[in-house]
Amino acid sequence: MSNQLSGAPGNLSPIRIERAEKRDKSLLPWPPRPVYHSGGTDAPRRPAAGAVTWNITTACNYRCSYCTQQFLEDRKRLLKNAPAFIAAFSRLPGRWEIKMSGGEPFTHPALCEIAEGLRRQNHLVSVVTNFSASRERLKAFLDASGSSLRVFSASFHPEYAGRNNQEFTAFVEKCRWMAGHLDAEVSFNVTCVATRDNLAQLTDYAETFARAGVTFKVQPEKRDREVIEYTDEEQELLLSLGGHNMTGVLAPDFSGQPCWAGALYFTLDDRGHAWRCYPARRFRRQYLGNFLSPDFRLARGPTPCLYSYCNCTVPIERGMTPGTCAREPEHTSN
Ligand code: SF4
Ligand code: SF4
Repeated sequence: MSNQLSGAPGNLSPIRIERAEKRDKSLLPWPPRPVYHSGGTDAPRRPAAGAVTWNITTACNYRCSYCTQQFLEDRKRLLKNAPAFIAAFSRLPGRWEIKMSGGEPFTHPALCEIAEGLRRQNHLVSVVTNFSASRERLKAFLDASGSSLRVFSASFHPEYAGRNNQEFTAFVEKCRWMAGHLDAEVSFNVTCVATRDNLAQLTDYAETFARAGVTFKVQPEKRDREVIEYTDEEQELLLSLGGHNMTGVLAPDFSGQPCWAGALYFTLDDRGHAWRCYPARRFRRQYLGNFLSPDFRLARGPTPCLYSYCNCTVPIERGMTPGTCAREPEHTSN
């Protein structure tokens, strides 16, 4: 079975990320026919809610050395016409979790307006931020999201927020402040990219955030879109800290197996382009159309994964990929 989880204990050879090739040409026309059993695996049970990861801007106030977006041609793009996007979200069937990121989403002047619009439509709101926004602006976002807020993910970038003890202490204190303003059912976590410069500090970071009562997740560093070649010892360290975003692995491979991405999950950019998932966007396959256009199409069910490396922890954590089950807290109130 190809659902081997690279970097799992006992299989600590250097990670190789095979570039995706066309595995089944019949699956490429969109929308594909549903396939509930493939690659020796049944599709997971249909998740209760859909999820979107939405890059609302390419702009960011940081320039991290390891940023996967550093080679984008335009790092100043802000989503335009927020009301048209809000209207498009109203056309999705059922309730969806909209996870906004960037760039840095808090650089977008309409972030709160968007969050409020999604809340009014009974969708769930999540955000990934470098957490540099002022407490006043963060609070305005919490007010706009209200009880629809599901996940607040603060990425910790030592190059900007941890250059000395004072900065790190201030970041941890801000996390405590944020945790104190969140409803109990909101999932709050801090993430950190495991660069070679950071590796020696990761365990200390994890212990400090644990003492502060905040979940700490590590993310493998990527270069040229692929996970860097960690040594066996480095892989062991990352696995001991939970693997990529606490999934227990570093580079999952679900190729050939049925996944709900495309039907109940997609990635969306600031111009409305929608793809099945991040690997699909990377390889320019499985395009759902422009979200603002009538041509936008969701898949009708699960279909086999075409990619040999899944870096989409949102569908993994929400039970959309084979052998996984939803782990983020369910948020039912609104
Ligand atoms: S905060 Fe995130 S988006 Fe901004 S430069 Fe750093 S890694 Fe890139
Ligand atoms: S989300 Fe992951 S498992 Fe699903 S199609 Fe994309 S790469 Fe494959």
